[in-house]
Amino acid sequence: MTEPELVPWNPTRPGCGAGIRRGEGQFTPCDRDVRYAGTKTFPHTRATWRTYACDYHRDHLDNAHHITDEDLLDIAWRWCQLRAALAGQTYQPVEPIRRR
Ligand SMILES: [Zn+2]
Repeated sequence: MTEPELVPWNPTRPGCGAGIRRGEGQFTPCDRDVRYAGTKTFPHTRATWRTYACDYHRDHLDNAHHITDEDLLDIAWRWCQLRAALAGQTYQPVEPIRRR
């Protein structure tokens, strides 16, 4: 299996965590439909996150699996927190599932 191309990744997003290049040094979040859940560990912080991906970016996840009902609940919760944050209201940040 070949390693997928490196893309910036935001593991706190309720959608696909991948960043899509839109210009020189500019990235916007991937807006394809989320189909997979998995984890991602970042070496520099040594933190592991639950995160989501579309069909196209699924190979960027560790332990990728089709989203479950539990994942859908987490995704809904994340959208609520994101909407609250964007509205300047109190919200709970998404936290890693493990820190080493
Ligand atoms: Zn994607």
